[in-house]
Order: sequence, then structure tokens, then C-alpha cells
Amino acid sequence: PKTPKGICGADADTMVARNLLRAVAAGSGCYIHIVENTARNLRAMGESGAAFKGAKALERVAELFGITGATPHEKAVKIANAVLSDLYLPRDEKMKLTAKLAYAPRYAKWQELGLLPGGAKSEVFDGVVKSSTNLNSDPVNMLLNCLTLGISTGLYGLTLTNLLNDIMLGEPVIRPAAVGFKTIDPRYINIMITGHQHSCFTHLQDRLLDADIVDRARQAGAEGFRLVGCTCVGQDLQLRGEHYKEVFTGHAGNNFTSEAALATGAIDLVVSEFNCTLPGIEPIADTLKIKMICIDDVAKKANAAYEPYRFADREPVSEKIIASAVEAYKARRDSVGINIPAEHGNDDTITGISEVSLKDFLGGSWEPLVNLIASGDIKGVVGVVGCSSMVSGGHDVLTVDLVKELIKRDIIVLSAGCSSGGLENVGLMRPAAAALAGPSLRAVCEKLGI
Ligand code: SF4
Repeated sequence: PKTPKGICGADADTMVARNLLRAVAAGSGCYIHIVENTARNLRAMGESGAAFKGAKALERVAELFGITGATPHEKAVKIANAVLSDLYLPRDEKMKLTAKLAYAPRYAKWQELGLLPGGAKSEVFDGVVKSSTNLNSDPVNMLLNCLTLGISTGLYGLTLTNLLNDIMLGEPVIRPAAVGFKTIDPRYINIMITGHQHSCFTHLQDRLLDADIVDRARQAGAEGFRLVGCTCVGQDLQLRGEHYKEVFTGHAGNNFTSEAALATGAIDLVVSEFNCTLPGIEPIADTLKIKMICIDDVAKKANAAYEPYRFADREPVSEKIIASAVEAYKARRDSVGINIPAEHGNDDTITGISEVSLKDFLGGSWEPLVNLIASGDIKGVVGVVGCSSMVSGGHDVLTVDLVKELIKRDIIVLSAGCSSGGLENVGLMRPAAAALAGPSLRAVCEKLGI
């Protein structure tokens, strides 16, 4: 820097820590928003007596939290309330479920270091306050706050969101699935979904298969409705796709792939509820007469209609989506060209990996995997997770090259987020990708048929 301090006297350490804390608080806010809505959806489903697809998951979470109840619905409401109560605590009161969700020795270390998070929403709020003009100037204090936010975001925003989704939407089942543009079938009215809040689609998913709704598609000239996955919500639907075989065609691709998916011309409507609904899809949607509906205004697009989703309004919201999709299909299919690259994607991407499904696959114990690592057949496990990247060569180039290099060295890769979308579309999650692995890892994959 030209001067050692800013005009207010803040030094470089303060500025860097302040900017980091602000970014971390914003990121945490996003994922806490998701778990809050997910818990509210679970509570509403429990109160209404709606059917859960993940009965075992419900029992598992209830046991983990020490929750009892006369019926699964009562337990679901109590689980949701336990989550929401924690989220809404003030910052000086520690969240209660952290101890039940965390790895015990790690929890003890966090406790020793004073890193246990208070109410997750308050943590975000205070992170924003601290990083505002001329408030906190202690870099260590702000960096410790980043760690606390990391704990609440990871355990609540990510782990808990998944556990609650397992209850409402069904648990992941390991299976081969279709990915890429071959998931878009022009004979159907295609609704592409973008976002992260899968539990907002529980009603729509089932409704699209009802006979009266399929009839409406047929009257418009289509064979029915299909949901096409894109971004993280597509990834999540794919993970649980065993429970939605009829209506969900597969995961077309990640955030940046959404532009190309729309450019095929065969998507009629986009329903968004969170990131990453790129602003870049707006002009494409306008040009190709694709309607856009947003059901959570945190991700409101300038050209999208806004239909706020609450579980109590699920029927009118689904009806609005269906009516708009039919209208768009009728208005655009005669005038918009369709061009779906036939070779894009594949039909046998292995999906449905969760802690539970993977352990089952291994015979109910982690020992086979641990033994393979101990014997050196697998040299280790690397997580390649997160959003897709445009740097270092272009869309997904970095992650694809990195994963090829890792598997060549007999290192198994665990992937999540939009980086998975790129890896699966280029075929790295197919059994055939074993041919690109080093000799030991290849032998393991071929033996297990994965
Ligand atoms: S992984 Fe990242 S890029 Fe993809 S939808 Fe989620 S936040 Fe967006």
C-alpha cells in the first residue's frame, strides 16, 4: 500500500480481517436462510400431517436430538422447533444442537478455544455490525468470529439442511443416473429448477404427476411435465432421485451450464428459489420466450414473476407454476428452434452417496474403505468441493484436470456442489472413468462396479 494505514487509522490487518468477516457473514447468512426455511417447511409438514419420504431418517434425527413423540409428525415438529430455537438464540447463548451434531473431540476443542457459536442469525448479524465502518479493529477478534460462523454454517446450514431434507424428500440411494443435456426431453413441458431449497418443491414434484395435470400438458400438445435439475438444487434432487424417478429427468449441469441448458430451446419455464440463478440467464429467457418464476425473493430476478412459497400456499404456488409452464409451452414451441447436443452427458453417473448410503454399500462398516487406505491401494481421499470455476482455463477446466490427476495417483475424490456438475457431465463419475485411474484404484473400482 502507498500508506501504512487508511485515513481512519485502520491498518492492513484490520482491513483484510474486516473484509473477510463481512464476506463470511454474508455467506453464512445465505446458508442459515436455507436451513431456516427447510426447518419451517418440516414444521409445516409435521403440523399438516403430510407424508414424509424418509421415515428412517426421521427416527435417526429424533434419536440424535433425544426427541420423543407419539407420532412421526409430532417428532418432526419437535425437531424443526429445536433447530429454529437454536437459530433464533441471542449471540451470548450457545446453540444446543452443536454438541449433538459435532464430532465429540472437535466439539471439546471448540469449547476449549471459546469458538462455540451463539444463535446462528445473531452471529451473522454481529459479523455484519463488526465489519462496518470504524467498529471492530481487532483482526484476531474478527478472525475468531469467522471461525464461529464457519461452525454454525457447516453444522446448521449444510449438515442439518441435508438431514431435514432426508426426512421430507427421502434419503439418497446409490444408483446410476442421467446427467447433462440428454436429461432434457423436448416432448415434455420442461421446468428447470435453480437454487438450494429442495424442500420448497415437495408439492410441485408430486402434483406434476397427477392425472389432471398430465392432461393439461397433453391438451397443450406435450406428453407431460418434467423437472430438469440445474445448480445445487438439481444436484440434491439427483441425489434423492430414486424417490422421483418419473418426474425428475436428471441433473443437466451446474450454475454456468444453466445458460447453455436454456439455449437448447427445450426449457419452457425456470423456477428459482436461491443462488445460483445467474442474472446472465435473464436475456436468454427473454429472447427464447422462457418464463421465469421466483419463489423466494432473496433470489428475485428482474424479469421473473414473484410467487412467494410458504408450505401453507403450496397448492396455489404449484398451480401458478403449472399454468405459466403450459402458457409458455404453447407460446414458444412453434417459434423457437430446439437444438439439444445428443452426446452431452451420460446415463450412468453414479449418484446417491451419503454417509448412510455409502456405509450400507460398504456392508455396514467403514472398515473396507479404511483397509484399502491402510494397505495403500487407495492413497487417500481428497474433497474437490464448491462452486464451478471459470479461472485457469475456463468453465470447470481446473476441477476436471485436478480430479484426473488425483485419480491417476490412486487418490479417490469426494465431490459436492457445482464442481460435481462439471465432473459428472464429462464422465468422471461413471464406472468407465476407472480406466483413467491409477492401477490400484482402478482395480478397486472395477471390483465394486463403480
Ligand atoms: S455450488 Fe456454488 S455455484 Fe453451484 S449453485 Fe451452489 S452456490 Fe451456486
